[in-house]
Amino acid sequence: MKCIDFIDGKTGVLGIIGNPIEHTFSPVLQNTIASVLKHNFVLVPFEVKKGHVKTAIDGAFELGIKGMCVTIPHKQEVIEALVDIDEKAKQIGAVNMLKRVENGFKGFNTDIIGLKKSLEMKNILIKNKKILILGAGGAARSVGILAASENAKEIFIANRTIEKAVGLADDINKYYGTDIKALSYDEAEKLSDINIIIQATSVGMSSTTNQSPIQNKNIFKGVDACFDIIYSPWETEFLKSAAAMGITAINGFDMLIYQGIAGYEIWNDIKIENNIAEEIKYNLTHYYRNL
Ligand code: NAP
Repeated sequence: MKCIDFIDGKTGVLGIIGNPIEHTFSPVLQNTIASVLKHNFVLVPFEVKKGHVKTAIDGAFELGIKGMCVTIPHKQEVIEALVDIDEKAKQIGAVNMLKRVENGFKGFNTDIIGLKKSLEMKNILIKNKKILILGAGGAARSVGILAASENAKEIFIANRTIEKAVGLADDINKYYGTDIKALSYDEAEKLSDINIIIQATSVGMSSTTNQSPIQNKNIFKGVDACFDIIYSPWETEFLKSAAAMGITAINGFDMLIYQGIAGYEIWNDIKIENNIAEEIKYNLTHYYRNL
């Protein structure tokens, strides 16, 4: 797929920092957006070691870099290098997108925006719904903050390490005055009347491809929609179980695309209309599925 037409003296440079970085999808994603919009931008990957993030960010500012994506393991460490942080990113405690401002970079979390958009585009609304979140890591923090800020009726967080679920529930309850309950998987599997399950662990990818955090399929009874934050494999065991019961089952690919689009909008102070976003998503889905 051709995504950079040309580079000249006016090309705006964007970057992504992480370590390792060679598997990142962000250069293809952001360069495709720039190409579809016919903007003169290029995004390139930078491997940055832990402990060197501030030096890298200060250097990026001096080099005139317009914006940055931030990926594992720097989403927390980067916060100390920022001159400002968006309120939602502060609540989540992780930043994945930096916008150049007057004296440095401001941090945002666009994972939460991508997740919200990806659910909305499938007509899945969180408001007044009973939500079960699986996982209590970085991705689950965005999911929990989204569920609370969208006024879910009830929220449960299940995690293998229960202390982390308790910590996450406490943090969100403090911000939103919610009453989120932390559970073990055994307890979660006994819940009934759940409307939406959001799978935010890494179970189902890499060495756990044939596994699902949910063992007891009874939990799917009465559920309207299941979302899995994973997109490789395209359909996890968790999603296969949900789909087999006739439940709407969505993977994390659209979230990935929409978080990237949200970042591009923030960098450029623009709104990318839905029909253009759909074209970008179509191109990238086609490319990704033929890799
Ligand atoms: P993380 O902070 O390392 O958290 C990992 C989570 O998975 C924890 O809740 C952990 O439980 C759980 N877990 C790991 N192995 C497990 C196992 N064998 N059994 C049960 N639970 C297990 O990672 P993260 O940043 O939250 O990322 C989670 C996933 O989200 C990754 O696959 C990542 O690629 C994906 N993600 C997707 C998008 C997207 O745009 N679609 C965006 C961000 C992240 P413990 O606390 O018990 O260890």
